[in-house]
Amino acid sequence: VKASNSLSFSLQAKMSRPVQARRLEGIDKNIWVEFVKLAATYSKVNLGQGFPDFPAPDFLTEAFTRALSGGNHMLHQYTRAFGHPPLVKVLAQFFEKLLGRDLDPMTNVMVTVGAYQALFCCFQALVDEGDEVIIIEPFFDCYEPMVKMAGGTPVFVPLRPNPPKDGKLMSSADWQLDPAELASKFSERTKAIVLNSPNNPLGKVFSRGELGLIAELCVKHDVLCISDEVYEWLVYDGKQHIRIASLQGMWDRTVIIGSAGKTFSATGWKVGWVVGPNRLLQHLRTVHQNSVYHCATIAQEAVAQGFQRELMLYGKPESYFVQLSKELQQKRDWLVQSLDGVGMKPIVPEGTYFLVADISQFKSDVPDVPSSDEPYDYRFTKWMVKNKGLAAIPLSAFYSEAHKNNYTNLIRFCFAKEEATLKAANDILQKWKQEKTS
Ligand code: PMP
Repeated sequence: VKASNSLSFSLQAKMSRPVQARRLEGIDKNIWVEFVKLAATYSKVNLGQGFPDFPAPDFLTEAFTRALSGGNHMLHQYTRAFGHPPLVKVLAQFFEKLLGRDLDPMTNVMVTVGAYQALFCCFQALVDEGDEVIIIEPFFDCYEPMVKMAGGTPVFVPLRPNPPKDGKLMSSADWQLDPAELASKFSERTKAIVLNSPNNPLGKVFSRGELGLIAELCVKHDVLCISDEVYEWLVYDGKQHIRIASLQGMWDRTVIIGSAGKTFSATGWKVGWVVGPNRLLQHLRTVHQNSVYHCATIAQEAVAQGFQRELMLYGKPESYFVQLSKELQQKRDWLVQSLDGVGMKPIVPEGTYFLVADISQFKSDVPDVPSSDEPYDYRFTKWMVKNKGLAAIPLSAFYSEAHKNNYTNLIRFCFAKEEATLKAANDILQKWKQEKTS
């Protein structure tokens, strides 16, 4: 008996040791885990998380089927670690066109498990303990924990809204950086800035002037640019997506990040990529080869074929990239109309498939709890999905802790949805509006 007692004592003693690595402190909460579950439980219409509910294009799914059962059984095996050769080759050809420079598919391109892993490789490879990384708010939420996991310190700079004076709807272009404020964030501690244009959640497409300002500061302070361009093809009203890497002095210090999930409406495939100079990518390859090693061969093969098609049809009306942005612009306009019609003022996005709307006129339905730690927009979106069946995402989820409470009257909708889904959302909003006024 004695022997077994001492054994259980020693086992217990071992289990009391902290298990969590220090780098995980304070980053355990994740908006998507919580809101995906809420949407799955309560939503009738899900305009929350960013993914299309319409099918990926036939040419892409057919390419996948061919890769799966087309007779080349080697496509079921490992491929090259840093990217399946046909995919890195066609990506290099495509980006040569877009950037107007020669690219080596083996050293200037790397394939990743979605843009998420591309981001993770960037922060792990380029950011050290004590480095500062500038993040423009509002931002895709994972930038902050990823910087912290790398030992870096995020430094936030906000896009500031300037409401239009003429009573027009606000546009994402009305959210701008204050040049002096931006400049004040750069110092000798700054290692990198994260740029996301078109921006999730606002849909802002940074202008050449704004990108020029960022580029100038990067060159002046010898700072790297992690340029998340996953929505590069989703720009509206004839706007142009400008790649900061094409500005003077920027190629050598920029990593461009892309995603087949967004580009070909197939978010579940998790194929992403980075394009950039070898002096940066060689370090991303070190992280990649020591973490995931490589991504699913068949998905890479199918995406390669998708890009080959798009390269052939580049700029033509049959191009999927051209068609998708046209279709999404129409969907954006429907949602803008629905929201404006009920007084949930939309901020018209210039790009992405997201739209931010002001819920101030609906606040009387969802009273605030002043003592609560939870920002009001969280409370509102949770109430909305539970009581109205409509899922959206609170905008404050895209802000740092210190600035969360500055923007609690705004929520984000995703409009990459079938016409029927957007109609169902409109019905919910109309009914809600009638209940309020009757
Ligand atoms: N960056 C941004 C700005 C995004 O919105 C997303 C997806 N929501 C990603 C990166 C991640 O993309 P992927 O699904 O390819 O990992």
